[in-house]
Amino acid sequence: MARDWNDKAFEKWHSHFRDESNYFKLCPLYKAVGVLRPLKYAAENIEEITFLGHKTLGHKDLKAKMEKAEALLKERCAANGKPVPTLKSVWAFTPRAMASNKNKLSNHALGKAVDFDPEQNPMLVKDSLNLAEAVSGTDLYRSDQGYDEIKAANDSFKANYNS
Ligand SMILES: [Zn+2]
Repeated sequence: MARDWNDKAFEKWHSHFRDESNYFKLCPLYKAVGVLRPLKYAAENIEEITFLGHKTLGHKDLKAKMEKAEALLKERCAANGKPVPTLKSVWAFTPRAMASNKNKLSNHALGKAVDFDPEQNPMLVKDSLNLAEAVSGTDLYRSDQGYDEIKAANDSFKANYNS
């Protein structure tokens, strides 16, 4: 792990871990979930994701799911003559511990959790909640999720959005 930190190939990922001491603090937390080389994990799995016009970094599996979700949202909104919801921010990959438990790794650290508008702009709350339900409510952490589950979530989004 120390060798990875000094490996030039992983240098572009350093800033995500903030600094070397924070990286070493997080290593045991990553290890607990089976990730022995966090920098290598990031280099191999974390990609740029664009969702409703916002860019963030996240796991490639999350990227695939968010692309599907966005396509379905747009399709359904168009079919129902509704505007596509707008977001202020989308945020996924952040190497850190859980806010509620400093000894456990956040799913954000794996790039498998995504936040929409965490600042909770009151003008956007309803859209954001519906969108969060449509996308993350279907448990994007899992990697075995199929089209049908995304579609079911999208149907529930549509029901809420129309209400
Ligand atoms: Zn979150």
